[in-house]
Amino acid sequence: DVTDRNRAAERIAYMAHYDPLTDLPNRASFNDALDAALERARKTNGSFGLLSIDLDSFKEANDLYGHSVGDGVLREVAQRLKAAAGGSAVFRIGGDEFALILADGEQPQAAADLAERLLDTCRSDIEVDGHPVRIGLCIGIAVFPDNGSDAKTIFNNADIALYRAKSELRGSVRLFDSEMGAELRDRRAMQSELRAAVQEGEISLHYQPQAMINGEVFGFEALARWHSPRRGAVAPAKFIPLAEETGLIIPLGEKILRDACREAAAWKRPLQVAVNISPVQFRHADLVSRIHSILFETGLSPHRLEIEVTESAFIEDFSRTLSILRRLKSIGVRIALDDFGTGYSSLSYLHAFPFDKIKIDRTFVCDLEHNQHSVAVIRAIVGLGHSLGVPVLAEGVESKAQCAVLAAEGCTEIQGYLIGRPRPIEKYSLLLRDAGAANTPDRGGLTAAQS
Ligand code: C2E
Ligand code: CA
Ligand code: CA
Repeated sequence: DVTDRNRAAERIAYMAHYDPLTDLPNRASFNDALDAALERARKTNGSFGLLSIDLDSFKEANDLYGHSVGDGVLREVAQRLKAAAGGSAVFRIGGDEFALILADGEQPQAAADLAERLLDTCRSDIEVDGHPVRIGLCIGIAVFPDNGSDAKTIFNNADIALYRAKSELRGSVRLFDSEMGAELRDRRAMQSELRAAVQEGEISLHYQPQAMINGEVFGFEALARWHSPRRGAVAPAKFIPLAEETGLIIPLGEKILRDACREAAAWKRPLQVAVNISPVQFRHADLVSRIHSILFETGLSPHRLEIEVTESAFIEDFSRTLSILRRLKSIGVRIALDDFGTGYSSLSYLHAFPFDKIKIDRTFVCDLEHNQHSVAVIRAIVGLGHSLGVPVLAEGVESKAQCAVLAAEGCTEIQGYLIGRPRPIEKYSLLLRDAGAANTPDRGGLTAAQS
């Protein structure tokens, strides 16, 4: 039992320095190695690169296929990184975060070259338990001494670069530069301005018509607009993610819902209103009761409200989202699946919940005249909609030619500049008048927008 005890001691020593899942050295080892690299570089007037690595869409794969597949992915990625890293040690410093210290070569070029090799090695699918999983890497690089002279600064700057890499397309590498720090500060400033903007009422709604393929408008999508006195018009693609990060989307989302429902309740014609709901709002405790009381408060009939959700709402917590949607549907609210065709486009979501509509993302519509792949995607989604008995709406329709192709493919509903741009609701007042007064928009043409 002396050997037993020795073995246990070895095991404990091992666990203090290594991650048992991947067998890579852990965060404690990384801190030691970073200190050692700093000391060596200072003594020799040398340099080194720190690569901060994060897996793209690991969480999604983990949620979709389960933890044992997730573990398998991490093990395989660890092996691939190790093989591509040559002599440099790879560390696992968190859930799906890795780091690497590169002491050899001319920096930052050597670190950038290594980063490209790491990306390459993860380009092919990883197969775990029969599931092919595609994982991208994002890599941020900071270099000693240019990007910092102490461990904390170098590590933070590699992280800032990583953060930038993640906000770009899949699988990218970024070197830290001092502007990034400034951008991060600007982001923080914008976050606090946004908080004030919500209170000051700087966020308003524009409405974009949704129509049958023949141009007959049946409803509007509400789209948030921020007019900042300091920054001018800020795009929702910019401020909605900010609001999500800070949790501000909860009060903001509620205000948007209330404004849209109150607006629609005042229309003479019982047209629909569609409101985008962020995945973050699903995480919040009482989305259903909030919507319920907003409908009650504004007097809008539930079947006139459609909420638009994206697949990412399911990735967070599948069963929770499903139960919220079921309860909303049971009170009569309609549910549309937004941006379909991008992201996971998982059939399991379509089968798990009876959506009232599928919205084809506009990336497939904008190039459909020149791109056969886009037409194939549209055909597949329309076919899917038919077989499930769910209407399909194409977004971003700008031309009559696009509309004609969509009609030929069997798409039944459209939204886009061809019908009308998102505008203040006053611009669409003709469409909102009593039935009969303005059933078909704009003298028989497709355009609903009034100048
Ligand atoms: P989305 O839900 O896919 O909204 C459609 C976007 O496509 C809108 O951009 C709209 O202006 C744009 N669009 C519509 N027709 C056309 C067209 O024919 N051509 C082109 N090129 N674009 C067209 P917008 O208003 O900038 O909104 C961007 C995204 O921001 C929305 O994408 C949605 O994801 C998010 N968003 C907007 N308002 C809200 C909101 O109130 N709540 C939440 N959670 N998200 C919102
Ligand atoms: Ca939408
Ligand atoms: Ca959309």
